Amino acid sequence: LLRATGLRKAFGELEVLKGVDLQVRRGKVLVLIGPSGSGKTTVLRSLNALTPPDSGVIELDGDRVDFGADVAPRARAAERARLRDASGMVFQHYNLFPHKTVLENVIEGPVVVQRRPRDAAIADAEALLARVGLESKRDVYPFQLSGGQQQRVGIVRALALKPKLLLFDEPTSALDPEIVGDVLSIMSELAHEDWTMVVVTHELSFAREVADEVAFLDGGVVVERGAPADLFTAPREPRTREFLNRLL
Ligand code: ATP
Repeated sequence: LLRATGLRKAFGELEVLKGVDLQVRRGKVLVLIGPSGSGKTTVLRSLNALTPPDSGVIELDGDRVDFGADVAPRARAAERARLRDASGMVFQHYNLFPHKTVLENVIEGPVVVQRRPRDAAIADAEALLARVGLESKRDVYPFQLSGGQQQRVGIVRALALKPKLLLFDEPTSALDPEIVGDVLSIMSELAHEDWTMVVVTHELSFAREVADEVAFLDGGVVVERGAPADLFTAPREPRTREFLNRLL
């Protein structure tokens, strides 16, 4: 479903991505791990063109965007919009609209961006909120919710877009330890429902149980990737071994 090739990105002098390649098949889960500053968030934001890479190619479901190519600005904008619309992103800090209710947060994308009928969007949103146990919270504001509840709304908001790809950027790292499990279990349910997911996380037990493939990123490149059973138990690269030793 997704193939990224040769992603490069610099912020000024700082080269953050130095040629990242990755792929995810439909219905599979790729987990990205790596030290702080290794470029994990930047990879994720490249995949939906929130932070367009300087060069590289992203192919998603037959659509191909070459970021290095000389493309007219309008065509470029249209390409990026297609990538953005194909994925739903769940952020570390939820990024809900503070002045909108839970329901308004969830239907914003479907109604305003995707121009779906409001009634249908509301019905979908209500079903998704019920699914994560938040049906009674549809008319409250984000500040009235706990972090775990806000993140469940964040997930519902991404699902409401019916995206081809779900992107998670350290979705549990801002949460209190006792609610991390709730959010991870929703994510595992989604993984078992055939969503295609790319997840940046430090939760190695989640990666071990849910990932089809784990990629270890360091210094702006994918150092090693493989099935979790192989990568966690017998990493081939010294850098991967060092990183895992520090975490385990
Ligand atoms: P963490 O686990 O700490 O979130 P990460 O692996 O996700 O790290 P990134 O957030 O992708 O890493 O950042 C990689 C590097 O790029 C960091 O050194 C960061 O300071 C830098 N960086 C990221 N975004 C920007 C930006 N918009 N402008 C300048 N530098 C940036």
